[in-house]
Amino acid sequence: MKVTRVQIVARGLTNRCPNCGGRTIFKAGTLFEVNQACPQCGLRIERDEGFFLGSLSLNYGVTLVGFLTPVLVLAYYKVIGTTTAIVLAGVGAILVPALLYRPSRSWWLMNYYLFLPQHLPANKPESGPGQDENI
Ligand SMILES: [Zn+2]
Repeated sequence: MKVTRVQIVARGLTNRCPNCGGRTIFKAGTLFEVNQACPQCGLRIERDEGFFLGSLSLNYGVTLVGFLTPVLVLAYYKVIGTTTAIVLAGVGAILVPALLYRPSRSWWLMNYYLFLPQHLPANKPESGPGQDENI
């Protein structure tokens, strides 16, 4: 394989194309729009409807475990007041998912290719003359 799993993770954590490492999987000048395809290598990034639903779950999970649970624990042990915890949880429940929108999309794409690295065009074997690419 030309693209290793370590490279796939490194590219996923930096919002780069998993196939070529080109910047970035998002349209230039936009915050939340994913490119249809990588401008450098043409890897199709936007998939079928529902492909990125997993990124929403990932975003929700990271927000819940990484932000809301610590706020709840701090309030439970009286480190912060109840009113502070409610305000923090309310603001954080909106702000944290918005901040994680881009990374969670990239993490989800990374996750897909981490488990199926042979699906990357760069990792597909060269087909010789007379060989069908569909085999
Ligand atoms: Zn690319």
